[in-house]
Amino acid sequence: PLLRVAILGLGSYGTRVADAMQTCKKAKLVGAISGTPSKLKDWQSKYNIPEKNCYSYQNFDQVKNNPDIDAIYVITPNSLHKDFVIRAAKAGKQVICEKPMSVNAKDGQEMVDACKKANVKLLVGYRMHFEPNTLEIIRMRNAGEFGKIMFFQGLSGFRIGDPTQWRLNKQLAGGGSMMDIGIYSINGARYMVGEDPIWVTAEETKTDPVKFKEGVDETIQFQLGFPGGAVASCLSTYSMNNLDRFFLNGVQGFAELNPSTGYGPIKGRTNKGELSFPHVTHQTVQMDEMSDIILNGKQPIVPVDGAEAVKDLKIIDAIYLAIKTGKKVDVKL
Ligand code: NAD
Repeated sequence: PLLRVAILGLGSYGTRVADAMQTCKKAKLVGAISGTPSKLKDWQSKYNIPEKNCYSYQNFDQVKNNPDIDAIYVITPNSLHKDFVIRAAKAGKQVICEKPMSVNAKDGQEMVDACKKANVKLLVGYRMHFEPNTLEIIRMRNAGEFGKIMFFQGLSGFRIGDPTQWRLNKQLAGGGSMMDIGIYSINGARYMVGEDPIWVTAEETKTDPVKFKEGVDETIQFQLGFPGGAVASCLSTYSMNNLDRFFLNGVQGFAELNPSTGYGPIKGRTNKGELSFPHVTHQTVQMDEMSDIILNGKQPIVPVDGAEAVKDLKIIDAIYLAIKTGKKVDVKL
């Protein structure tokens, strides 16, 4: 069976997902939800979406009476994810939500609880969890090929443009680079090391307080400590381009992804040589895999459910607290 998906939030990433879904085998784009009527018209003709599967933000709760839509994929600015996810769950639809799932762990947990109560699944758009080079490194690590894991370095950044965009608005973004690109290093540290951290330290640097206002972080360096003794050292920034690299070191070997999370191709290398998996469009694979998770109960190698995403938000909460207090913060995930 096909997972029939409606996208909510028809911006740049929503469009990327819609394009990628055109070659899915197990998922199909069948609906659209937007605050802009002209975008709905465009999507109807571009993606062959029937008018009866299109909704505005006002009338979208009526999707509960539409048997032709199985799932809603929320792709709006970060702080709006929560209300839309809860409304989708109340309409009885399966939910997929973009990262960061919300802007703090408390909101994330409310989203998880609402979906549980409505008896629907909640998945978060962690597309790297299905990327073949990444999964090969995880397989090698689990097989002990790098020895005991001791260190991870995650560098995640790009230079952000237009100062008026929502990504630089605390109300809509929930923060700055950490909420957008830094979360890749947090999530990556967890799936590369293969453990959840128990403490966090962090420092913030701001070179442009006009562009990066109060509560909007430009650059954050952070460190994570893992129960097995490994440490991670990471950078999240909105002021450098070409910064997208993961490096994992064990007692006996290493693995590098460079680039590590961009749209691709992802390049992997270990002490045993280059990895050579062919490039796949991440969003196409993600949506086919999510179809299997939702419709067939398939278990992904790296989880993509809401509870998993709340862990990243707890770490982000701890990073912001560590910056504010200047202290090491314990985390319990
Ligand atoms: P965007 O600005 O291009 O699109 C956002 C959409 O939300 C727009 O269509 C906009 O009209 C709509 N919107 C609804 N209410 C709004 C409001 N009050 N203010 C502003 N816009 C409003 O942003 P985007 O790049 O598509 O990002 C959307 C989400 O997708 C974010 O959560 C982002 O983190 C995530 N994202 C994920 C990836 C990934 O690789 N997984 C990549 C890019 C973005």
